[in-house]
Amino acid sequence: MIPGSFEYFAPRSLGDAIKFLAQHRDDVKILSGGQSLLPLMKMRLSKPAFVVDIGRIPGLDTIAEEGNNLIIGALVTHAQIEDSELLQKKCPLLPQTATTIADVQVRNRGTLGGSIAHADPAGDWPAAILALDAEIKCFGPNGERWVKCDDFFLGLLMSVLEPDEIVTAIKVPVTGSDKTAYLKAAPRSSGFAVVGVAVRIGLDGSGTCNQAAIGITGVTDKAYRPERVEQMLTGKQIDAKIIDAAALEATRNIEVIEDINGSAEYRKHLTEVYVARAIEEALDR
Ligand SMILES: Cc1cc2nc3c(=O)[nH]c(=O)nc-3n(C[C@H](O)[C@H](O)[C@H](O)COP(=O)(O)OP(=O)(O)OC[C@H]3O[C@@H](n4cnc5c(N)ncnc54)[C@H](O)[C@@H]3O)c2cc1C
Repeated sequence: MIPGSFEYFAPRSLGDAIKFLAQHRDDVKILSGGQSLLPLMKMRLSKPAFVVDIGRIPGLDTIAEEGNNLIIGALVTHAQIEDSELLQKKCPLLPQTATTIADVQVRNRGTLGGSIAHADPAGDWPAAILALDAEIKCFGPNGERWVKCDDFFLGLLMSVLEPDEIVTAIKVPVTGSDKTAYLKAAPRSSGFAVVGVAVRIGLDGSGTCNQAAIGITGVTDKAYRPERVEQMLTGKQIDAKIIDAAALEATRNIEVIEDINGSAEYRKHLTEVYVARAIEEALDR
């Protein structure tokens, strides 16, 4: 369990990091919390010749409110999110999701930016940020660009991120009176989602759903939004009958995976159950 040898670089600025990435773009990896990268390197599934540790670059570990949005630096850890009073007040879905990730040790080291860049199809953050319509700030040789999270994930450990780009921040909205919840089914051995469902529901004064956004992880090669479920909730007074009918649409047009944690049929059923439960839990809050 010893990684192959590599050259380590710890830049003090984003500019230096980008220059180094651009120079070595085919054989370099960015290191944030190391909770996904280091296991891969130790198992020799990843053998970069160069590693850029971005942990010493200032300004990437803050959480700030800007107008109706919250800007979370890429180096903010899962534990910081869990403990943030600002997020608990303004966007409680994020701290709630953080509590479901692994154990204290992983939450103390692992970062939001690292998780999103890693694009693990069983990661918890992709589901949460899809339900929040988040945007991801990517910084590269041509400056910065904001990518909508709907467009960010491409497939198994794949995203639109270029090899010489760094995720520097994630923008989420203040969710105000919207109802939110994250629920996941996970084996105790790994803690990774067999299915994870994040829900955000807006209700108008009469209790009618005026906005529904759902993110699902663990079920296929990337986190996704079940559009049909969202459509079936929107414009309705949500009751048990509507929830049950909508949840049955959660895997429509989705190629459900199977692995040691469950068959495709089991996962499909679990997804329907967890979508219904997550909607109910959000509405109860
Ligand atoms: C025992 C264990 C249990 C876990 N359980 C869960 C779980 O239940 N749920 C869950 O969601 N996750 C889980 N994880 C993963 C954990 O959340 C990681 O922290 C996360 O996946 C990666 O974040 P990191 O900061 O550690 O990134 P790193 O491991 O440092 O990097 C991961 C990948 O992303 C790239 N990268 C990192 N940061 C950036 C950046 N800012 N810009 C561009 N690329 C970047 C790296 O080059 C690498 O390819 C678990 C990990 C372990 C070890």
